[in-house]
Amino acid sequence: DTFDVMGLQENLLRGIYAYVKIFREGFEKPSAIQQRGIVPFCKGLDVIQQAQSGTGKTATFCSGILQQLDYSLVQCQALVLAPTRELAQQIEKVMRALGDYLGVKVHACVGGTSVREDQRILSSGVHVVVGTPGRVFDMLRRQSLRPDHIKMFVLDEADEMLSRGFKDQIYDIFQLLPPKIQVGVFSATMPPEALEITRKFMNKPVRILV
Ligand code: AMP
Repeated sequence: DTFDVMGLQENLLRGIYAYVKIFREGFEKPSAIQQRGIVPFCKGLDVIQQAQSGTGKTATFCSGILQQLDYSLVQCQALVLAPTRELAQQIEKVMRALGDYLGVKVHACVGGTSVREDQRILSSGVHVVVGTPGRVFDMLRRQSLRPDHIKMFVLDEADEMLSRGFKDQIYDIFQLLPPKIQVGVFSATMPPEALEITRKFMNKPVRILV
């Protein structure tokens, strides 16, 4: 059980091993979810991962996204939705840390911040957008976030987003994204509304329960 056998790019591995310097936490061995989840995600498969927070799920989808980005194309290729501003900003930090040696450009679009500033950063070019459903939908609606190159879409804490009433916004966002994108759903529980999303928007998902 090591990150070295997952077929990850050298510069992503460097980010994984350097993560400890930023977060002061060891990352020597992959956690259970990382062992089972990173490789299928990197293959471009749709994945449903039922896991609590604290299991290492953030690094699982961040690694899967970072492995698959085309860094020569400075367009949004991956979109991650999270239920709260704090969580979105935490994911942004993890993505940036793990992708440090790859030169990833990440931006968090969350409510309560300047719309103008979001627009300015998005127009300067990013590879990944992490955000809360309301602000992300707003950016798509205003065409400040262009969906054309998005090929990966992750819903983090899907159950929590649904219980906070974001169902309609999540559906609206799906409608604006290109068809046939890779979808990852991370959720501690699978209530009926979460299952409905997996049925409607996912293609033969791999299920991982940790
Ligand atoms: P989460 O992504 O919310 O599940 O976060 C899990 C926590 O565990 C974070 O504080 C990470 O820094 C930490 N963590 C994630 N992966 C590992 C790993 N492979 N080894 C040690 N700690 C980890």
